Amino acid sequence: MRSDKGRRFSPLYIWASSLFVSIGIAAALMSFSISEGDHRETALLSAPTGGNLAALAAGPDKNDLPSPRPSPKPTAPARTPAPVQTSSPEPSSSPGKKYIALTFDDGPNPETTGRVLDILEEQNARVTFFVLGESAKRCSETIKRMSDMGNEVANHSWNHAWLTKYPEKEMTDQIRDTNAAIKEITGKTPTLFRPPYGAYDDRLRGAAGKQGMALVMWSVDTRDWESRDADKVAEKCAAEVADRDIVIMHDTHGTTADAVERVIKNLKDGGFTIVTASELLRMNGVPVPGEMYWSGA
Ligand SMILES: [Zn+2]
Repeated sequence: MRSDKGRRFSPLYIWASSLFVSIGIAAALMSFSISEGDHRETALLSAPTGGNLAALAAGPDKNDLPSPRPSPKPTAPARTPAPVQTSSPEPSSSPGKKYIALTFDDGPNPETTGRVLDILEEQNARVTFFVLGESAKRCSETIKRMSDMGNEVANHSWNHAWLTKYPEKEMTDQIRDTNAAIKEITGKTPTLFRPPYGAYDDRLRGAAGKQGMALVMWSVDTRDWESRDADKVAEKCAAEVADRDIVIMHDTHGTTADAVERVIKNLKDGGFTIVTASELLRMNGVPVPGEMYWSGA
């Protein structure tokens, strides 16, 4: 169980957090369903507007807000900022073909991620992993293997903090330090960022955008963290996917690793071509830093 506490906060910040701790706990109890279990992306479309200090005092990892699948919110990206730099080849899409991006969050975990990679290798499929900086540092061999196999290694923050509850400097540090950890291992700087819990605001978009990163959400939520059931994960994915969807899963669960082979076979049987998130997005043009993408449609 990771802890988000005490990471590079100034004494003033810690003091402010402590000051509100009693109010915080009470408010957090009212506002959130507190869970010690896993807490993955929960279809949050935006950060809660109230009780931020309360939630901060309660600890970002204690918030678990299962909620319905998000309605994809396609946005018309403003084309003014500089494009995200990427070294991968320009993907080409063929009319009539169906494309899908599988994405895996929260890893790597040497055991479960290793199993996912074995299956990807067997199935000759490439996906996008949104990894945590602190895990990347510990599991550099797994990250290297992801990258060497042609998968995309993208940024999911340093320690899965609920970033919209933190000052902008913390947002910036988490994104920058994770990019640096990934680059040290793969030689490539990520260009895509997925906010933990799907929680975003304008400040986070700005912090990501300033570092040349586009925000990538999802359009199909397998809710694998909730069901912990390989059959359900495979069935949900097969039932919901459509052309240009972005599917979210978590390679930290054994049940998800169990489902991946079926997920891929179902997609292939359905005529889908599996591509990385960057490849999918670039079929519509280069992703714009600070812009949000829910699918490749
Ligand atoms: Zn996550």
